[in-house]
Amino acid sequence: MSRFFNNKKIELLAPAGNFEIFKDIITSGADAVYFGGKKLNMRMHRKDYNLTNDEIIDAISMAHSLGKKIYVTVNNLFSQQDLKDARKFLVFLEKVKPDALIIQDFSILELINKLGLNLNLHSSVMMNVHNLETIKALRKLGVTRIVASRDIDLQTIYALQNQSDMEFEYFTHGDMCVAHGAQCLYSALLFGKSSNRGLCMKPCRWNFTVKKGGFIYPTEYPLAVKDMYMYENLPEMIEAGIVSFKIEGRMRSSDYLVNLINSYSDAISRYIDDPICYDRRKDAQSIYESRKRDFSTGYAFGKPGIDNINRRYEGTGKFYSTGKVFSKPMEEIEVSEERIDEIKRTLHNETTSSQEAILSVKVNSYAQAKLALEEEVDTIYLSGETFEPDLSFSKKEILGLTKIKKVARYILHFLE
Ligand code: SF4
Repeated sequence: MSRFFNNKKIELLAPAGNFEIFKDIITSGADAVYFGGKKLNMRMHRKDYNLTNDEIIDAISMAHSLGKKIYVTVNNLFSQQDLKDARKFLVFLEKVKPDALIIQDFSILELINKLGLNLNLHSSVMMNVHNLETIKALRKLGVTRIVASRDIDLQTIYALQNQSDMEFEYFTHGDMCVAHGAQCLYSALLFGKSSNRGLCMKPCRWNFTVKKGGFIYPTEYPLAVKDMYMYENLPEMIEAGIVSFKIEGRMRSSDYLVNLINSYSDAISRYIDDPICYDRRKDAQSIYESRKRDFSTGYAFGKPGIDNINRRYEGTGKFYSTGKVFSKPMEEIEVSEERIDEIKRTLHNETTSSQEAILSVKVNSYAQAKLALEEEVDTIYLSGETFEPDLSFSKKEILGLTKIKKVARYILHFLE
């Protein structure tokens, strides 16, 4: 049931967390389904999720018999040890012929090349593609589709797509990250569970209190972004040249997904059939009523600002359809005088005549930089990572710091 608009094939791409869900999804209005195998993908929390090799074989055959496509996520970041499994899995996948793999780690490109495998490749959102040069480089390496970065707007996609003739897939509905793709280390830092290896504990969804200068700010979930919702903007996505409309939700249940997929599928078909009398809001109310969070169009029309932050349902620690609590906020640990003394002692003891320990500190304000200097820090990183209404360092402040006698080494550290 292929769908075309202006001779361009349009695809609704749906997620399947496991084989049972897949069987429900494949007969819904999706044109293509994506899922992961038991290893090497970005949803590694639950043992009963993802598909075994035998299930992958059956899923591909079922999808192809219905004229639908299958994309397999091999989109983890890999260690050297993982590559043995990756090699085996890639050889298996070439035999069973999914329509494409969704990848993040460059080692997969190299392995496919070395093993002489014939597999279509889509660059995962985790590759964080933002510019033409990267697109061209990926094209040379055999990538045929870009899953657009979540922080990229439709106008930019239009331009990139026109200049590169690359296929673009766009997150159309579902859970989003507050951080740019693959740039979030929060879960790894707190739990040792990396979001770049499919183990994110979602600390960004916690209820944080922001205290500063004696004030407690009226924040609730300051890092928890709303869910992406492009149901009412499908024409703009088609105009931007996007060919694949991706629904997020490999941890969601069949019931929730099938209704959502069918609403989006019906909307795409209605628009293709009659763009002039197209009703954008036909199922908007029912999608709104079954939402998990509030909705936003994310970065589709430019930077969303504070309006992208969700203030509902968060901080409960319940993230799965089972309602299982798996991640709870902890009390923030104060850095006590004793702890500072202990660090100083350790540094002192570790220092030998041939090897000198260097103490580096990252600071966000002039006052912090001065304090670090007084504590005789060797290197001070002047970070530009401030949140409004604070501003990063002014030129005057930086010059002022360099004039202070006990000069440490300063490094300007701007992320954007
Ligand atoms: S902590 Fe939040 S922003 Fe970071 S990867 Fe996990 S879900 Fe995304």
